[in-house]
Amino acid sequence: GRVAVLGLGKSGRAVAEYLVPLLGGRLDQLTVYAGPSNADAQAWAEGVRRAGAQVLFDTEEVVGPFELCIASPGISQFSPFYQAAKRASGEVVSEVEFAWRESRSDAVWVAVTGTNGKTTTTALACHLLQQAGLAACAVGNIGDTCIQAVASGRCSHYVAEVSSYQLASTVNFAPNAAVVLNITPDHLAWHRSHEAYAEAKWKLLANLPSVEGAVAVIGAVNDETRAKVRQLKAEGSARGFSYVPIGAKGGLGQDMRKACGSENAAFLDGDVLTVALDGAEHVLIPRNRLQLEGIHNCENALAAATAALAVGVSAQSVAAGLATFTALAHRIEPAGTVAGVACFNDSKATNVDATLAAIGAFDPKRPVILLGGRDKGTDLEPLVRACNSHAKAVVCFGEARERFLEAFRVQGAAQLQVLEAPGMEAALDAGLSAAVLGDVLVLSPACASFDEFSCFEERGDVFKALVAQRAAARGE
Ligand code: ADP
Repeated sequence: GRVAVLGLGKSGRAVAEYLVPLLGGRLDQLTVYAGPSNADAQAWAEGVRRAGAQVLFDTEEVVGPFELCIASPGISQFSPFYQAAKRASGEVVSEVEFAWRESRSDAVWVAVTGTNGKTTTTALACHLLQQAGLAACAVGNIGDTCIQAVASGRCSHYVAEVSSYQLASTVNFAPNAAVVLNITPDHLAWHRSHEAYAEAKWKLLANLPSVEGAVAVIGAVNDETRAKVRQLKAEGSARGFSYVPIGAKGGLGQDMRKACGSENAAFLDGDVLTVALDGAEHVLIPRNRLQLEGIHNCENALAAATAALAVGVSAQSVAAGLATFTALAHRIEPAGTVAGVACFNDSKATNVDATLAAIGAFDPKRPVILLGGRDKGTDLEPLVRACNSHAKAVVCFGEARERFLEAFRVQGAAQLQVLEAPGMEAALDAGLSAAVLGDVLVLSPACASFDEFSCFEERGDVFKALVAQRAAARGE
């Protein structure tokens, strides 16, 4: 039947590239909807058009019927374009769903979603599988797209980072292990409401009952997620898959089991990462053997470890893998030292919750935090509270500066130094002048980067270069 690819971003193009040889002489069955802006994608699409596919540039009109549409994650399910596709097609699915359908029936899928920690947890889970000798690849955000990895035929295990955008268009996707790390307000523009956003995330668990031995790993981070575990548990005991709440914060073991009504649990037993899964208690490694900062990373590690155990990796192998994993770039990444002040690049912290994790990671050191960029409009009260109790100083910069300054003016504690700077470079210098030998300075902006930079990676790279420059200028 006829197939349409909606959007020619990274994933749309990968899907089209997969379909072209598959359809062979029947390229008239393929329609590609390309956006207006990307010249490179347009040149590529011209080639496909010459080969016989239909390529439509910059149109919101979808003329079916199609058997299947594969939608780019950039297209909101509420947009007129997406709605038109729904009317014109039997099904609209995301790239991860399509790739999952195309993968071998014995392929093992681990899927990770959540507001924060997805990439770290995905990379770590993949590392654990690879260390165990499995042909695993991380797909989604890091590395190849899902469909590229499936097409390569090289992997038996896929560890997929799945965004809420992609989950909004999954139908049958049923991973063997599904991780929902945490759900806090984000991406409200795309999903329209927190409820719709949360609903998309929970969709990851919808089809687990169809997979033998499937395991759901759920961050028991707040009342919303704990209630969800209880609810799923109540409905799900009949449906036969396992739930594992994770909760490193507070080191809950028995307490969390009680709060979630679950025998399974992943937690810190004292200082030791421990996973209780289907009757076995796996004692992994002490927290200080992880090469990652922060209690939030204990949660990520517990989630990744549980997923690895769930798909059959031995506890011994998981423990060994946990100890050899190092921080990814832009995620509380060590960036060098200036005059005895250790600087960290946490440019990936583009929302308040991620910055709270970074502030918590340096407890009881009182860091200097650089905050700012493009404002996301979320409530700043929790951030101000955390800075009041855990930070030495904050520097507010960029477009968000005025709203952040105002929040600190209203609620900031007397002992907290509040500084301001026009942009990130000036913020670094202001932050360094507020810090003394032995202090910690963290770029953890709680905002998007687009007012000054093209992406958070660029912001983090510029930050690291500036730190190196300041160090060199001092002859360090
Ligand atoms: P994502 O891919 O979901 O954006 P990352 O692993 O890239 O997640 O981490 C993004 C930021 O979120 C990090 O800089 C860190 O400060 C914060 N973070 C990571 N894991 C967690 C977690 N489990 N809970 C809260 N914040 C987290």
